[in-house]
Amino acid sequence: MGRTNIKERIKQGLFLLDGAMGTELIARGIEAGKCNDYLNIESPDIIFDIHRAYIEAGSDAVLTNTFGANRYALARRGFGDKVSRINTAAAQIARRAAGEQKYVLGDIGPSGDFLQPLGSLKPDELKDAFAEQAKALLAGGVDGFIIETMTALDELTIAIEAAKLVAGDLPVFASMAFDKASGDYRTMMGVDVESAVAKIVSLGVNTVGFNCGTVSLDEYVELAGKYVSAAKTLEKTQVTGHGARVTIFAEPNAGKPELVEGRAVYNVSPEDFAAAAEKIHLAGINTIGGCCGTTPAHIEAVAKKLK
Ligand SMILES: [Zn+2]
Repeated sequence: MGRTNIKERIKQGLFLLDGAMGTELIARGIEAGKCNDYLNIESPDIIFDIHRAYIEAGSDAVLTNTFGANRYALARRGFGDKVSRINTAAAQIARRAAGEQKYVLGDIGPSGDFLQPLGSLKPDELKDAFAEQAKALLAGGVDGFIIETMTALDELTIAIEAAKLVAGDLPVFASMAFDKASGDYRTMMGVDVESAVAKIVSLGVNTVGFNCGTVSLDEYVELAGKYVSAAKTLEKTQVTGHGARVTIFAEPNAGKPELVEGRAVYNVSPEDFAAAAEKIHLAGINTIGGCCGTTPAHIEAVAKKLK
């Protein structure tokens, strides 16, 4: 038997995503500053091992190692012409690690630039770039897409439209990165929780989340509560259409980063991370993973506590 349709599966209760990729690469001796996405071609065994470590820790799904594998981010590393190869290879590696029982989500991160007039991106070209990435991920066998760490609603909107064009029936997850700047949670580009959730749902995406950002674990718990109430308000006002429920997912960092010799270091232990994950779960969020600084040990601690 293969796996249940992922849209059905995430409604059935706890669903664990994986933890960080970047910090695991450094732990395996990859120099900081390398193009992580090109490692899908250069060192596929290392990527496979990291995915396996998460599956063995209890992840129900792994995210492809393609956070920066859009043509803009790759071009900055000199790999702008390798979008298809890198993304398809990444999806194939993740699929091999996940097997037929676990899930693979194709990871789509920001372009690293802004749309005009703030930046140099044209909407049509940006949409084409995200569609190019999504198509290559689909060709490698993903079960859905996860658009992460977005800070601008216009870029997120275009990424969702592009992913949905390619996805057909497959789900699209979309999340933004929040900071707690002037007492309230906002993305770097000033988007608040209610606007983020409402916009994402209005685009036909019912799986909305938050990841990364620079807040403490207690603040992630508070942010989880804000997401849950924003989703409930939307459900009540029926704007979700067809009576669809909103599913929320959370991928906190392993706490707030501390700068050590110019590098961000995350110091929260697996036990403390699992304690926060339990509070997030109790707030009503069933799909949980980790962002920067989380390791297989963090996911294993969450699995032990919540499964
Ligand atoms: Zn992160």
